[in-house]
Amino acid sequence: MTEFTLDRVFAAQKRIAGIADGTPLVPSALSARLGHELLLKLEIAQPIGAFKLRGAVNAVFGLTGGVAGVTCCSTGNHGRGVAYAARARGLRAVICMSHLTPEAKVAGVCALGAEVRIIGKSQDEAQLEVARLVRDEGLTEVPPFDDPAVIAGQGTIGVELMAARPDLDTILVPLSGGGLAGGVGLAVKTINPRVRVIGISMDRGAAMFASLQAGHPVEVTEVPSLADSLGGGIGLDNRHSFALCRDYLDEVVLVTEDEIYHAMQSIYYEDRIVCEGGCAVSVAALEAGKVTPRGPTATILTGRNIDMGQHAAIISGQDVTLGDLTIKGSAYAP
Ligand SMILES: *Cc1c(COP(=O)(O)O)cnc(C)c1O
Repeated sequence: MTEFTLDRVFAAQKRIAGIADGTPLVPSALSARLGHELLLKLEIAQPIGAFKLRGAVNAVFGLTGGVAGVTCCSTGNHGRGVAYAARARGLRAVICMSHLTPEAKVAGVCALGAEVRIIGKSQDEAQLEVARLVRDEGLTEVPPFDDPAVIAGQGTIGVELMAARPDLDTILVPLSGGGLAGGVGLAVKTINPRVRVIGISMDRGAAMFASLQAGHPVEVTEVPSLADSLGGGIGLDNRHSFALCRDYLDEVVLVTEDEIYHAMQSIYYEDRIVCEGGCAVSVAALEAGKVTPRGPTATILTGRNIDMGQHAAIISGQDVTLGDLTIKGSAYAP
């Protein structure tokens, strides 16, 4: 744990400046309904549409020595972040994905100049290709969350929040592998231990929540969810993000698919923002009364890289089917 200090986050802030810049913190139209000021940290305004650029840039620009290139296995925002960061540094990037990856996600990463390698039928098989690239071609793997440089990069959001609004009472952080919540928790609690930092996950397949309950990293079955960017495990050999979440999060709250669906509508109709399901979980928790605001509250709008067909279906109140899960639609009603 000693390697995690606020200094590391400040160093990340310097390193990523000019590539992954600070984002605005704006008031939400939902404040009145919640009875307390709600502020939105617009990470959707990052050049890749998600906060993951911060950690990826800090990791990629922190590599020293002869770097042949970077690689990772990600179908989503981490892959975009690594691709963007590598291009900014003039490095080769190879992003590995399984055959099940939707075409739009493959295209998104290709557009950022990375090589995409489509391998196997699962993330695990794609991960084997990452290991091969590291071994045979000398590429460096950039992990999505369990990495000190990535965590420090995501932690810069916490520093910005505290600088913008030292009076914040609560910060809500969408939680998956815990790189974001761990980094933000570390930064915020070091600056002001009285600020409440709450992680929010979906109630189906929340690996960090299950691990915190068990007291050690555990596996969960991955199931379809509107919050698809929050899926996946934390790694049974987790070295950093589990301990940070355990030490710095006050609580982890879980939300249902219906609550996420409604929150995506609220964020769209009230704040007029398009966001992913994984990004809407904090508003979902507030709307469901699972987090009670006590004062100025901020949440991180983590990403907007949603399939626009799915988003259109949600805002028009249609049913959404994801694998064996159907979320019953309903027209927006505040
Ligand atoms: C990755 C991601 C998260 C969660 O970040 P972790 O560091 O894995 O906890 C939240 N929202 C979006 C949109 C993401 O892409």
